[in-house]
Amino acid sequence: MSAKGRRARSTPDLSGASPVMAQFLEIKRAHPGCLLFFRMGDFYELFFDDAVAAATDLDIALTRRGKHEGRDIPMCGVPVHSHESYLERLIRKGHRVAICEQVEDPAEAKKRGPKAIVKREVVRVITPGTITEESLLDARRPNYLAALARAEVGFAIAWLDISTGDFRVTPVARANLAAELARLGAGEILVSERLVQESDLFELLAEWKGALNAQSPALFESQAGGRKLQEVYKLATLEGLGDFGRAELGACGALVAYVELTQKGRLPHIARPKRLEPGATMSIDGATRRNLEFTERLSGGRAGSLLSVIDRSVTGAGGRLLVDRLSAPLTDPAAINRRLDAVEFFVERRSLTEKLRGVLKRIPDIARALARLTLGRGGPRDLALIRDGLEALPDLRERVTGASERGLADLPSGLEAVVKNFGHHAALVDRLKDALVPAPPLLAREGGFIAKGHLPRLDELRRLRDESRRLILDLEARCKAETGIGALKVRHNNVLGYYVEVPAAHAEKMAEPFIHRQTLASVVRYSSVELGALEAKIAHAADQALALEQTLFDQLVAEVAARSEDIARAAKAVAELDLAGALATLALDSDYTRPIVDASTAFEATGARHPVVEAIGALETGAAAAGAVKTGAVKTGAGPQPFVPNDCDLGPDQRLWLVTGPNMAGKSTFLRQNALIAVLAQMGSYVPAKSAHIGVVDRLFSRVGAADDLARGRSTFMVEMIETAAILNQASPRSLVILDEIGRGTATFDGLSIAWASVEHLHEVNRCRALFATHFHELTALKEKLDALACYTMRVKEWKGEVVFLHEVAPGAADRSYGIHVAKLAGLPTPVIQRAEEVLKTIEAGESGGAIAKLADDLPLFSAVTSPAANVPSALDQALIELNPDELTPKQALELIYRLKALLPEEG
Ligand code: ATP
Repeated sequence: MSAKGRRARSTPDLSGASPVMAQFLEIKRAHPGCLLFFRMGDFYELFFDDAVAAATDLDIALTRRGKHEGRDIPMCGVPVHSHESYLERLIRKGHRVAICEQVEDPAEAKKRGPKAIVKREVVRVITPGTITEESLLDARRPNYLAALARAEVGFAIAWLDISTGDFRVTPVARANLAAELARLGAGEILVSERLVQESDLFELLAEWKGALNAQSPALFESQAGGRKLQEVYKLATLEGLGDFGRAELGACGALVAYVELTQKGRLPHIARPKRLEPGATMSIDGATRRNLEFTERLSGGRAGSLLSVIDRSVTGAGGRLLVDRLSAPLTDPAAINRRLDAVEFFVERRSLTEKLRGVLKRIPDIARALARLTLGRGGPRDLALIRDGLEALPDLRERVTGASERGLADLPSGLEAVVKNFGHHAALVDRLKDALVPAPPLLAREGGFIAKGHLPRLDELRRLRDESRRLILDLEARCKAETGIGALKVRHNNVLGYYVEVPAAHAEKMAEPFIHRQTLASVVRYSSVELGALEAKIAHAADQALALEQTLFDQLVAEVAARSEDIARAAKAVAELDLAGALATLALDSDYTRPIVDASTAFEATGARHPVVEAIGALETGAAAAGAVKTGAVKTGAGPQPFVPNDCDLGPDQRLWLVTGPNMAGKSTFLRQNALIAVLAQMGSYVPAKSAHIGVVDRLFSRVGAADDLARGRSTFMVEMIETAAILNQASPRSLVILDEIGRGTATFDGLSIAWASVEHLHEVNRCRALFATHFHELTALKEKLDALACYTMRVKEWKGEVVFLHEVAPGAADRSYGIHVAKLAGLPTPVIQRAEEVLKTIEAGESGGAIAKLADDLPLFSAVTSPAANVPSALDQALIELNPDELTPKQALELIYRLKALLPEEG
């Protein structure tokens, strides 16, 4: 359960409550764990603990309203017209909100008696996983609601993006649960209260505690789940959906039931759940995803992540699909190559790609508009988005099929499916074009969205409404003519409504059909049947026009909803086309190449680059490439250098590379770039290399970060060991492992021993492809013993006493680490650097107890030279730094000399 949701909110006792408060308390009781937005006129009011929580999180005034059980009732409120922005803030803070509306006219309530209160009902529960509002969603990210269920034979996770109707499910083994949850990054995860309490899941679920929503075990019951799916998809049997296990049925059923519950019975368009076979995607745990900065930087934010560098999509749906694919690279070479074929098609047709992208840019987000409409939350503008989106499809189809000689038959199969899935929507598009104005308003209640000429009755009503003034003037002119009274006027006031007014002197001329209403000093007022009828018409015209528009709107929504499956399929096809074009554009712009992806265990990349470091510039992204902690503070003083490409070949006879080399030489960057190349290739993208051959990787492991997890009571070294344990226990011969240092967070010999044994285990037991970067140069001795281990090093040049990093990977082993050199670059005080060089020399000369003991004897000397002030400019230095001789008058110069002299430190 979410942090906020779990917080117990005591619901006060009903007895003795005022009628409205009793109604509030009753509704509140039916929606535990939610903040209740209780509609009162133009405000949503919150009471009791809800008010306290909301006032704090929204930073709005907390007031009081009446008393309950002798105590003040805390209250706060937000205006209905601007409630969305408040809602947004509450949802972002992890709250769930139940919207309770007045569901009858207050006038109706009054008819039941003076004390009767307006009926209210919760019309919707908004939770982080069920939002559809544009303002609450990121246009370029999917927002998943997930459900985790368990049956005797294992777990299943189902996930649904309610804003697009995308619905999938996968069986999952206990060992893969963490990686699957990390892949989804769901906004809300439904779990049974029973699972939450299980101790062996505690650690795993704790990681997601912000998104967890514990529900009654009954919600996950597989038989009920099966029945729910049959009912929703109108199926006689479940076979049509696929061979779902009990856990899968439980998870899918829970999702659908929860959506019904929160949407109060209204189901959005939800595609039939598609099964993702276990092992169909590359398994990547949460730490690896975070450390490799797939979609976000470690320091937060999208800029500087792999996603930010490769995303060239021009539609929100294309952007979302990219996030999805990047999170779940495939493992089936045929499926990967289908995607790559589509990208290649556009790589070979640059000008077509550019034109297509021009069209795609103008295509609205069809899927999200459809979801809002089917949930009854859409408006006329959503209908127009669907109209405009679908209308563009024939043009896209023609451009794509026209690009190949034999049309559809010539297209790669992935694109052929895209074009077929566009479908044919001419009738619906014509209907919407005919019915709607070009740019309709957001809300149906505003009216004015049905086009002129679409419905004669509506035109008539509008004419009546808009031309009421002219109709009155017409009537006035006729009355004047018929009575011969030139001073006759038709007027209006709130008491009489419309009336005819004549000067008192003419009153005797006013006979039938005029009915006397009022005599004043100088004028007499009349009504007439015709005037009354006209008034009624005018008064009702606006309401009737609006009601008619609303009816028409409902009809159009129903027509769209009836075709929702086809429309959703077309929307998905648009996203796929956009993404194929986007990846082609990336490949062309950034000089990426098509990888060979097959079922071998090859891993060969030549002239390969790190996509992010290369794109953003070597220096700026030192932190992105190597982890903010490591390189963030280091400035070498050199300007940005062009990226140096490197080769990597983890073929069967050298599947484990031991990479040594100085600090800052580019080891981390090299390791990461190879992992990212595997991910890019398997998601179906070209890769930053001259050539690449990747035998599919089933699991990607990394041990690269160096952060502790104090919140969970784990030190840096403990985190390092937990990650290493996971790798050694789980990596298969098909896995790819990158290990950036093992055993650095402990004593040197402990660390070296652990690293040594780990390399042996990786080589002999895991037999996976692996890149192992280390400063323990001793490990290179293992080459003699392990035949598939190869030693590589990062080249450096020493030039005029300085170290130049070449960032080149070459066979061999490093002889030293140049750590002191990097420390100097980082700005360690000079005496410390000098002393470190001395210590290093002594240790290297004879690493014996005697030498080290002698160093300790030297300590007083050391402290003598390391005055912390040595590096800080003195007041005299500072004054000299700040002075500008060109700006001094002779008098100021003289004064300055005196001031400088005064700043000289005193003798002794
Ligand atoms: P350490 O041993 O301190 O962890 P490292 O060997 O892992 O260092 P990296 O952190 O990978 O070194 O890289 C250091 C810097 O060099 C980074 O700022 C990175 O941007 C730059 N760099 C790395 N590889 C290359 C390359 N191939 N071409 C250009 N610049 C590179």
